[in-house]
Amino acid sequence: MDKVIGILNGMEFTIGDSLLELSYLIAALLFVYGLKLLSHPATARTGNLWAAGGMGLAMVTTLLLHKDANGSGIPLTNVWIILAAIGVGSAIGWMVARRVKMTAMPQLVSIYNATGGAASMLVALLEYPNAVAGDVGSILVTVLGLFIGAVAFSGSLIAFGKLDGRVGDIMKPFMTYINLVLLIVTLGMGVYIVISPNPPAEMVWAIYALLGISLVYGVMFVMPIGGADMPVVISLLNSFTGIAAAMAGFIYNNQAMILGGILVGAAGMILTMLMCKAMNRSLINVIIGSFGGGGAALDREQGNVKEITLSDAAVLMSYSQKIVVIPGYGLAVAQAQHIAHELDTLLEGKGVDVKYAIHPVAGRMPGHMNVLLAEADVPYENLVEMDDINPDMPNVDVAIVIGANDVVNPAAYDDPSSPIYGMPIIDAHLAKNIIIMKRGMGKGYAGIENFLFFNDKTRMLFGDAKSSISKLVNEIKSM
Ligand code: NDP
Repeated sequence: MDKVIGILNGMEFTIGDSLLELSYLIAALLFVYGLKLLSHPATARTGNLWAAGGMGLAMVTTLLLHKDANGSGIPLTNVWIILAAIGVGSAIGWMVARRVKMTAMPQLVSIYNATGGAASMLVALLEYPNAVAGDVGSILVTVLGLFIGAVAFSGSLIAFGKLDGRVGDIMKPFMTYINLVLLIVTLGMGVYIVISPNPPAEMVWAIYALLGISLVYGVMFVMPIGGADMPVVISLLNSFTGIAAAMAGFIYNNQAMILGGILVGAAGMILTMLMCKAMNRSLINVIIGSFGGGGAALDREQGNVKEITLSDAAVLMSYSQKIVVIPGYGLAVAQAQHIAHELDTLLEGKGVDVKYAIHPVAGRMPGHMNVLLAEADVPYENLVEMDDINPDMPNVDVAIVIGANDVVNPAAYDDPSSPIYGMPIIDAHLAKNIIIMKRGMGKGYAGIENFLFFNDKTRMLFGDAKSSISKLVNEIKSM
């Protein structure tokens, strides 16, 4: 293994080094293959396993084959410490992932983002004093890793607090200016560290100062962002975590870390842009625009809501030709996915064409509805994306809205004063009949009124979604 087979950049290259680089290449290919499989619900689990296998391979080969500049492997004590850390981290991750409720998944993602950011931040902090004075390239990646990692860490903790209802929205217009000043100070400090001719060992105070301001900036950056924009912010912070990990990879000249980080960074950024598109907003508007909770609603005649009885709903559904189910956050809260599938199977048995309309930000995380419905074995071909189902909505006999609110709110089309104005929605209002299942007149995530509830074609079926649907299923069976 230690036989020298060549010299690269003045350093001897052994068979072990070649095997290590080869394992990183294989790991990178597995990450890419895993990502490809993750793009479809049917293959997502396998994709996750392939990518995790790639990471496992890179970790094992690094432990066995990594050599420092003097040609020594990782000291045995360090190997034990690393193995213990991997063991503890895996056990915690396994327990948390098994226990977390589907509705709390975004909070979990935030915590994972925070730990990823913290890891890269600590790598940069510990490695900075070892950098060579004047080596601008390596000091630059260290400073970037520290800054981006620290912002991802503290920003993700605030995002977690907001999603979990522990931190409120502070949306003061002046915060945009404070944040701008903080950003300029942080970048100025970073530039000072990078161009300073002083040896890094004498500049440790500066790197700690940069760490402090970056952490404060992360808090201040996420604090003013409105609750309904949190999914976009989480995806953006996820992308930051990936970029910070890539910077840490540059510090160690580790190809697997660089590639893995770049893939996470790019995937997070693409998802961020897709979500902004789904809400018809720009990223800048998400970051500095105040959105969610509040916003003056258009002054208009509210009218009365009309309720529907279980038997009327059962008859209407059974004699329809085409039904579109529009699931939202309430479906996840009620855990009504299994009974909803029972309902659609029952109706299909009666010759009704039933499809599910999936809005990109329905629920509380990207793909939330796809995951829930896949868990209930609803066939993928019955899940139709918003853009594909909307043109067909005028031909739909009944739109059944299960625990969705913002994603069917027509204020997005006709109320310029609404915070969701311009966000694409599922056109439930165009269906011939609309049945809305929810517990009461509670508002959705954006905290605004929904005039769909007062539409002439709309009838409300109040109650917990799971219990309403199961009563409906019994009613249809008894017909
Ligand atoms: P909403 O949050 O707009 O509405 C959910 C509705 O479900 C509520 O009005 C509530 O009404 C009802 N509900 C709650 N519990 C139950 C229950 N047990 N049974 C029946 N109904 C229930 O959900 P949408 O999915 O329409 O919209 C998602 C919103 O969340 C958007 O604003 C989006 O931007 C935001 N968001 C999206 C994320 C994502 O990535 N998907 C992440 C974070 C936020 P009631 O209390 O009367 O029952």
